[in-house]
Amino acid sequence: MRLLTDGTDTNRVLGFCLTMLSQYGENWPPTEEALAQEFVEWLGFRSVLTRNALKELCQAKGVSLSFDSLPQDIRGCNCSFQDKKEIVIAERELAPFADSHTLLHEFRELLEHEFVAVGHATIGAKDSLEVQAEIFAMACRIEAGQKDLPVFLEMASKVEKKWVRYLGYALVGVFGLACLFGCIYMRQLEEIGSEAYR
Ligand SMILES: [Zn+2]
Repeated sequence: MRLLTDGTDTNRVLGFCLTMLSQYGENWPPTEEALAQEFVEWLGFRSVLTRNALKELCQAKGVSLSFDSLPQDIRGCNCSFQDKKEIVIAERELAPFADSHTLLHEFRELLEHEFVAVGHATIGAKDSLEVQAEIFAMACRIEAGQKDLPVFLEMASKVEKKWVRYLGYALVGVFGLACLFGCIYMRQLEEIGSEAYR
């Protein structure tokens, strides 16, 4: 008997994982950067997104995203039951772009869940999924930043007045640096943020 469906119509995350498997199966596992690159494209992730926009992106992939108060040292959590997938992110954002970072981290864990389910784990028994999810989140944000930077520069170049245009370029530059800094030091920034709330 042949199955009529491989389950990807009700489980889009699984669909993404199977696509990865068909593309990188011979060289499994893919690098975290390659996975991030494909994922950013698939999800439509951008470097600047509101909470509502993040919710919509997740919704489109069958993942329900919500923001709720969580214990202080927990930034997010995810759960996967049959075809239902859910991510909850801490209501209080402790550093700029922390929402996106946490979402990507939790999503990476959901992906691994599917990879394991189809018998193709991407990380070894002694590697930590927590660490891998952090690397993934960082790689996705750098990838999205690289995609968005030319768009911002293009926007700045369209400004008529010269001094406003230069100001625009300067802002894009500062924003780019801040983003890169945030990508790398996210956890430290959050620590500082949570210290401030104590
Ligand atoms: Zn985690």
